[in-house]
Amino acid sequence: MDGTMVENTSPILILLGPPGAGKGTQARMLEEKFGFIQLSTGDLLRAAVAAGTKAGKAAKAVMEAGDLVSDEIVTAILADRLGEPDCGAGVILDGFPRTLAQAEALDAILQVSGQKINAAISLEVDDSAMVERISGRFTCGDCGEGYHDNFKPTAKTGTCDKCGGTDMKRRADDNAETVAQRLQAYHAETAPLITYYDNAGVLARVTAIGAIDQIASDLSFVVSKATA
Ligand SMILES: [Zn+2]
Repeated sequence: MDGTMVENTSPILILLGPPGAGKGTQARMLEEKFGFIQLSTGDLLRAAVAAGTKAGKAAKAVMEAGDLVSDEIVTAILADRLGEPDCGAGVILDGFPRTLAQAEALDAILQVSGQKINAAISLEVDDSAMVERISGRFTCGDCGEGYHDNFKPTAKTGTCDKCGGTDMKRRADDNAETVAQRLQAYHAETAPLITYYDNAGVLARVTAIGAIDQIASDLSFVVSKATA
């Protein structure tokens, strides 16, 4: 090995969690508290295409042809990105890896850079609680105030407490059946990754139902331990 090569010891965290579990909020908290950078596949691709790197050009050609960017290209882009100075404090991977093949590809590039995965954190939710939480949401179409059938009902049914408006809106894809289907798809996709990282000894589970501050505090504890 080249004697001048400095090993990259920047922490790598993987955040896993179903849609609606507050992953974005918690990732932002980790960015602020620990100085990490959150990297999502979409952002990575857009930045690499804009920068016109070798892998970025390859990704652009594939996307323009209407095809999915291969794991090989995505990991090449990620490898480039991890070497940039602003990733020094650590990185939170959001939405990658999504498959076992991607997890193995990630391990391969980390082996080259001398890095390791400090923790793969699974935000755990109770599915029925999640269905209740998401399917009960509605907002005032006039002022945008958010409500919930069980947790934050309006004082007078169908009338906004804030502005008196009566045009209450529900997102079509927030109905119970759709939410349950989204969760099932998430579990089917993520189960192999959970097993993979559990076997690697880096899996951490954080309960993601409850007060946001409590979840943030549990998550911070796990991250502090994993990056100590
Ligand atoms: Zn209103």
